[in-house]
Amino acid sequence: MKKEFFVSLTFDDGWKSAITNAAPLLARFGMPATFYIISDCVFGCRDEYMNVDDLRALTLAGHEIGAHTKSHKYLTELSQLELWNEIEQGAEDLRALGFDPCTFAYPFGDWNPHVVKQVREAGFMAARTIARGMNTEKTNHLLLRGYGVRKEHSANDVISWIVRAMRSDWLILYFHQIEQAEVLSEHKWIYGTTPAVLEGVLLYLQREHIPIVTVADGIERFVKIAVKEKGSSLVPGHAV
Ligand SMILES: [Zn+2]
Repeated sequence: MKKEFFVSLTFDDGWKSAITNAAPLLARFGMPATFYIISDCVFGCRDEYMNVDDLRALTLAGHEIGAHTKSHKYLTELSQLELWNEIEQGAEDLRALGFDPCTFAYPFGDWNPHVVKQVREAGFMAARTIARGMNTEKTNHLLLRGYGVRKEHSANDVISWIVRAMRSDWLILYFHQIEQAEVLSEHKWIYGTTPAVLEGVLLYLQREHIPIVTVADGIERFVKIAVKEKGSSLVPGHAV
């Protein structure tokens, strides 16, 4: 394992089950995570999503609230005005509720250079795609890669990704619903996983003493590694 290797745990869309089923596990293991929130969903459009009290509880527990747009559209298909509204208003809605999102996740992993430029102009320091892979000091901060943990993956599958990623600097895992297998099947939530799989992954991370950081903290560590390795104060990866 590289000395600096670290992992981030991210939960997309603000599913209620991420607070009811994942947050207690994260608390037990003392691990912080990043929750990428669709701002329209916070205002109670469906019981399946977290509300503002849930987000406050996550913040108090040391987790990061990141932005995942206003209403989760394919960003490359929008007009300039719609695009700005999705990115900037989504973040502004969260700020109005007292949160300070400084990292972003692209809905459906959908991006192009123009979308990335807007994300940068909205002031985000980092953004995660769904491109499968790990991150090194060469990775663009606004195009971070990740591994999605889905219904078909076992804890051992995820552990094998972690082992493979140890030669890089930073592995980001992303999750959606955290529900029992029957519930995932009933709702056809193929992007979800079970509490048991999540627990198996967290147990492994704890046993191997792998540092777990939020995405915002990951970016800070990342910059320090690059500076140390290159002896330069340049922030890497900002050219798109
Ligand atoms: Zn999403």
